[in-house]
Amino acid sequence: MSEQAEIGIIGGSGFYSFLDEVTEVTVETPYGPPSDSLFLGETGGRRVAFLPRHGRGHHLPPNRINYRANLWALRSLGVRQIIAPCAVGGLQPEFGPGTLVIPDQLVDRTKSRQQTFFDGQELPDGSVPRVVHVAFADPYCEAGRQAGLRAARARGWQAVDGGTLCVVEGPRFSTRAESRWHAAQGWSVVGMTGHPEAILARELELCYSSLALVTDLDAGAEAGDGVSHEEVLQVFAQNIGRLREVLFDAVSELPAVDERKCECGSALGGMEPGITLP
Ligand SMILES: [Zn+2]
Repeated sequence: MSEQAEIGIIGGSGFYSFLDEVTEVTVETPYGPPSDSLFLGETGGRRVAFLPRHGRGHHLPPNRINYRANLWALRSLGVRQIIAPCAVGGLQPEFGPGTLVIPDQLVDRTKSRQQTFFDGQELPDGSVPRVVHVAFADPYCEAGRQAGLRAARARGWQAVDGGTLCVVEGPRFSTRAESRWHAAQGWSVVGMTGHPEAILARELELCYSSLALVTDLDAGAEAGDGVSHEEVLQVFAQNIGRLREVLFDAVSELPAVDERKCECGSALGGMEPGITLP
């Protein structure tokens, strides 16, 4: 089936625009439309579905992204493992622009987002999700993290192994006080999209890991004028080429779906969720 994929990548159009053959697929979900069409292609012998997180043209701010629809749509195409690149601010002076962090923890500082599929709200098919509490002590798939680390290091990019991604509501950047506070907690980087992506992937029993590219030092970690949107875009543009290489290498490093040794695929632990996962 050409309209199926095993691996999902949530990120901008810069990641798939160089693939030879890309099929655009529109997916409907019980939660409404995802951020955009999904774009299916092949790299390193693996079928990959790309989803532009902010929509093509980048029209969706982080707080308006339909995260539930995005994760549901990916799974409905067969995706079981996701790598999610994102742009972040460095909270520690040693994590300057161009640093690649592969976090192993996250802190949720978002305020207004749908964080669960198991909210008791009836779906259009008449099924009703039950209350399910999913373990989230380790929010990222370790196999995915290791694939990202190996891929980065093989290309001479000394990615940071582990660290905490603090996810804020946005779309504004942090105040200096917020940023100093985040830094004082020992957190590594700050972003706006890593949550609830991670928990929604876990609830759908998907492997999920993040490649966090530092585009700026956050306000509390630098002495200048604070972050600007232009600065973020500029650093991202400078690094998109090597990030794409690492991403595609990481995809081919991922285990085959039925050879996974992680526990992501049984996150519901046999609990009856009341709804049928796509
Ligand atoms: Zn996993």
